[in-house]
Order: sequence, then C-alpha cells, then structure tokens
Amino acid sequence: MVHHIKAAVLAAAADGRPYADTRPLSLETVTLDDPGPGEVLVRIAAASLCRSDLSVVDGKRAWPMPIVPGHEASGVVEAVGKDVTSVAPGDPVVLVYQPQCGACPSCLSGDAHLCGPGLAANRAGELLAGGTRLHRGEAHVHHHMGLSAFAEMAVVSERSVVPLPRDIPLEVGALFGCAVMCGVGTVINTGRTRPGDTVAIAGVGGVGSSAILGALLAGADRVIAVDTDPDRLAEATRLGATDTVLNTDGDAAAKIIDMTHGGADRAFETAGTIGAFETAFNAVKRGGTVATVGLVDPKTPFSLDVAGLVTSAKTVVGSYLGSCNPRRDIPRYMALFRHGRLPVDKLITHRLPLDQVNTALDRMADRRALRQILQP
Ligand SMILES: [Zn+2]
Ligand SMILES: [Zn+2]
Repeated sequence: MVHHIKAAVLAAAADGRPYADTRPLSLETVTLDDPGPGEVLVRIAAASLCRSDLSVVDGKRAWPMPIVPGHEASGVVEAVGKDVTSVAPGDPVVLVYQPQCGACPSCLSGDAHLCGPGLAANRAGELLAGGTRLHRGEAHVHHHMGLSAFAEMAVVSERSVVPLPRDIPLEVGALFGCAVMCGVGTVINTGRTRPGDTVAIAGVGGVGSSAILGALLAGADRVIAVDTDPDRLAEATRLGATDTVLNTDGDAAAKIIDMTHGGADRAFETAGTIGAFETAFNAVKRGGTVATVGLVDPKTPFSLDVAGLVTSAKTVVGSYLGSCNPRRDIPRYMALFRHGRLPVDKLITHRLPLDQVNTALDRMADRRALRQILQP
C-alpha cells in the first residue's frame, strides 16, 4: 500500500530571497511506501527548522534532488514493518538524523554518531536499508538525513527513532533530535566542560542557545555568549548566559581574553561561520579546547597557524551530533528536562503550519528565530 501525503519538496537548491515569494519548498502531494523490514511509519507531530535545512535549500551543502528536508522532529508511530521490536503503533518517538546500524566499527566502539552505513545512506538521500520510500509519480524523492520530516508522515529506519516518554510534549521532543544533541552534547561530550569552567559560545542561535543550557547544566562558572546581534544576546541572558559580548568589529576574542584574564577554558563555534570559529579559537586560553559544530560553508577558505597551535597547545575538535549516542543520551537529556535542569522548551520561539515553511526559512536566514515548530 502507498500513502498519499503532503510534503515540502525541494526540486533544486535556490537562494533567491525572500523565500516567502520564491517558495523553494513547495507543498505537494507525494507518495510514501509502507515501512519495509526494520522500518516504521511515523505521523509527524512537530518538525522544527534548523539552520542545516537552510543549507539544503540555498545549496551551501549539496544533496541529491529532489529532496524533502526536515531532520529535527517528533511524531507518533502509525505502523511498523517486519522485525521492528523497539516501538509499536501509538508510541511517541523522537526522530534522529543519524541512523545507527549497530554493527559497524564505530557503532561497536560506542561512537554511534559516526556510524558508517548511517552516514553513507544519509549522503545518498536514502534510508539505512537502501532506496527511498518517497516518490513523485515514477520519480524517486530523496530523504533528508534518513528522515524527511517536513511532511505529514515519514517512513524511517527503526534505528532512526528514540522513544519519547508520554509526559514530554511532542513539540519539545522534536528538539532533542538535533538542537539538544548538537548544543548540549557538544558542550558536555565533545568539549568535556567541567564544573567551574569558563565557556565562550560564538553564535547564539538555536544550537548556540542549546549550548548555553548545556554549559549551565555542566556547572560552568561563566557562560559568555558572543553574537553580532544585540537581540540575540538579550535572549542569551534570558537563557542564563552570565556575560555577553557584542562582536561588532571582530574584536570579541580580545574582549573575552581581557575579561577572563587570559582566555576561556572552552569555546564553541555554533554559528556556522569562519568568523565565529576564529572568535572561538582565539578566545580560549593556552591549553584550552575549541569545538566546532555550526557547519561552516565547505567552500570558505581558511588557513591555520599550525606553529601557533603547537605553542598554544590548544585542542581543536569537530563535533558531529554532539558526539552523542542518541539512544543513551536522549533519554538522559529528557530526564534532565523533566527535572527542570535542561529547560530546552525555552528554545521554541515560533509555531506555524507546515505550509508557511518558506516564511520560516526567511526568519531563520534573518536570524530572527531560535526554533520554529512546523506542524503538518
Ligand atoms: Zn539540525
Ligand atoms: Zn553503524
């Protein structure tokens, strides 16, 4: 059986603005296959818009086309394929953009976020078992990160879902799939922030704001939010940042070195720009750690003073999925949310129907939103 569903389809990357007029994402009826073995059909309840979705639309990152974006979402299991054991129809779930095969060297060594077959399937725009379940007429429509959540329903691998406890609202559950793992996970797992640390966060959009919550959770003494936008810094203060630095003319790192008497213990690039990376790199003290998670445009040139890296003894580390094992870390973060120690619901700034996804893209591009929840 196939399902006829409404989905936001991107035919080709396009960066004409405003998106509300050029409408790169078109809401169309597409067909969705029944779930195959090890797959589940999920009715999407909430899909939030992440900056990575914008990089799919504007072509900064190349994906097979056509594609249905959307990689941060929650929903309710509608049906399950053969051999599915971890969820059943009626179960609320969080969708996770990195499927974990459970059998590759990375999965076996505990690095589920680096799953090789999961990454290969994502890059091909296919599900973990191969192929697409989305079609438009005879043509294949590709999955984004094994999910494609800007739609009424999605077929995904069982290894792309984590059960969502019923006492956690579905719209909050959606955030755990990307913003929470990438923000909180980067600060705690990748950056190994410890109680008493001074932490600088360069770029306080959705993931940067999540990183603020992570730094507070980890017991950081000072959490220094850096951004080019004063409104965003006001928001960062509301979330608990202890200090803010307005980066007007690229002098944020110097200000941080000054105010911390030598630099932060850890700094995080959460803006997806080389400028933010440089700020983070220059703002840490000698021996400090710099983690980058924001996905800088791969075509942006960058040079590194390698000798300076030696003498400063800094650690530079990339953070994919916040170095999280989704099935281990999402339940932990949910428990912390439930106990009021990780108030990620504060990241939600807008709610709108799925057919306004292009307007939401404009707001994201203009840095006027943390997380916007789209409801099909
Ligand atoms: Zn994301
Ligand atoms: Zn694997």
